Amino acid sequence: MDLYEYQGKELFRSVGIPVSEGRLATSPDEARQAAEVLGGPVVVKAQVLVGGRGKAGGIKLASTGHEAGERAKEILGLDIRGHVVRRLWIERASEIAKEYYLSLTFDRGAKKPLFMFTTQGGIDIEQVAEESPDALVRLHVDPLEGFHPWQARRLVYGGGVESPAEQKQVAAIVGKLYEAFVRYDAMLCEINPLIVTPDGEVRALDSKFSVDDNALYRHPAVAEMRDLEASDPLEALAREKRVTYVKLDGEVGVLGNGAGLTMSTVDVVTFAGGRPANFCDLGGGGDAQGVVDALSVITRDPQVRSIFFNIFGGITRCDEVARGILQALGEMSLDLPIVVRLDGTNAEEGRRILAEAAPPNLQVAPTMLEAATRAVEAAA
Ligand code: GDP
Ligand code: MN
Repeated sequence: MDLYEYQGKELFRSVGIPVSEGRLATSPDEARQAAEVLGGPVVVKAQVLVGGRGKAGGIKLASTGHEAGERAKEILGLDIRGHVVRRLWIERASEIAKEYYLSLTFDRGAKKPLFMFTTQGGIDIEQVAEESPDALVRLHVDPLEGFHPWQARRLVYGGGVESPAEQKQVAAIVGKLYEAFVRYDAMLCEINPLIVTPDGEVRALDSKFSVDDNALYRHPAVAEMRDLEASDPLEALAREKRVTYVKLDGEVGVLGNGAGLTMSTVDVVTFAGGRPANFCDLGGGGDAQGVVDALSVITRDPQVRSIFFNIFGGITRCDEVARGILQALGEMSLDLPIVVRLDGTNAEEGRRILAEAAPPNLQVAPTMLEAATRAVEAAA
């Protein structure tokens, strides 16, 4: 789960990483008020889950409350690479002498968190990595040993930070970033730029913070930060209905029970020459309501041309799923061709229930491959 800049900064603040004072605003009037409360010049910052806001016109300085309101009018509603700005972060403006870069992420190859630091911050880190790789210091932390202060010093000296006062502040921030990363089960913590003010103060001017979805249950306050309006409406609907759903780009709607079987179903659709429209896992249950919920999510995607139900009855009973399918068809007007493959517990009874009801758009196939082939044909 990606956090907005202001949310990431809140987590930074909670571990003691210095950030500027700011206020959230959702209208020009709120922006004006926020600027007046903060006093002095402010920066009006678009809150969207995408980088490069500065270049896209989503970050503007304002010297008075009135100006902040005017800048807010320009930025609210702006489309930054597919993300519409609905929230603004109004922050006391900083004077910038230098811009550094600091991040911590997972290096999956090394199976360790990886720090990256450079004094050439502010610009795209990929550009630094490409044009002056020597300027980018990389350092792994062994998760079992944990973080040691010498590692911060190595980053700071390696990056060529010269002033002792700066070295000390950056090193402290490095340690706190590791603390934030571990405490919140982060996948990525990035500060770009990490600025040095003309007075020699080091501060995080931006934040990119991403938390492992699988750990959100341990961080209810972070889970609450999710902006349901901004996320994909289908995935939001799925979350609301507790359906495990991932939107893909094809035409065959896929519905399975159990993550493993559903993954195989996605594969077999591809093998049969089709393109899956989604991954949707009914889970272990598969009762009638579960089927109705899952179908209502899948069919909301206008790209879906056919539906492939792949059920292996274990804990889930096939007769229950068959009734669920029929109930769903009764409740929603669904004309799409549906191919069902049932196997396992009560499969025969399930097939009989479907055969007796015989909805015109539904067919039952005996094997996974045959069902996939028919679903792909139906979608063509
Ligand atoms: P990004 O473009 O999405 O990465 O957004 P950032 O928060 O990194 O801001 C982009 C750029 O705007 C920064 O690199 C700064 O140059 C500038 N900027 C942001 N906040 C301030 C500020 O308080 N004062 C000044 N002078 N510039 C700022
Ligand atoms: Mn930035």
